[in-house]
Amino acid sequence: LQLTLAVIKPDAVAHPLILEALHQKIVENFIIIRKKDLAWRRVDSERFYAEHAGRFFYQRLVEFMSSGPMRAYIIAREDAITHWRGMMGPTKVFRARYASSDSLRGQYGLTDTRNTTHGSDSIESARREIAFFFPEFLA
Ligand code: ATP
Ligand code: MG
Repeated sequence: LQLTLAVIKPDAVAHPLILEALHQKIVENFIIIRKKDLAWRRVDSERFYAEHAGRFFYQRLVEFMSSGPMRAYIIAREDAITHWRGMMGPTKVFRARYASSDSLRGQYGLTDTRNTTHGSDSIESARREIAFFFPEFLA
């Protein structure tokens, strides 16, 4: 089985019904290895998204991801990385709404930044991101 990191972002955690709907989707599709509620300081956000430093959306992304509580999961299944990314849908809310309307972002995404969920995009990033969110977890 493959592991990946899934995060429910502050926009979705702020709405209990959306949080519950996303949680149920995860339960139905994956084995949950770890689950944690947490909140970031601005520096955590800057460090996690260092690869996007300088992009036009970086400030709003960093601000948003440290704006309130999040929920993080280590989840497992065959092809977990691709499967979770597929469930999330496209990054851009326009594309998610119109081309992938039953995806999680298509249903619940608010803007290109406030897009409900995060998922690691490769084996290397899953390893890094799991360690970032769950430093006590040794895979
Ligand atoms: P994530 O890494 O959160 O799973 P992603 O891999 O689909 O999403 P990235 O390109 O890694 O997208 O961007 C990280 C995050 O930055 C996005 O999820 C979104 O919150 C924000 N973001 C990306 N592109 C834009 C954009 N064009 N405008 C505003 N915010 C953006
Ligand atoms: Mg990404």
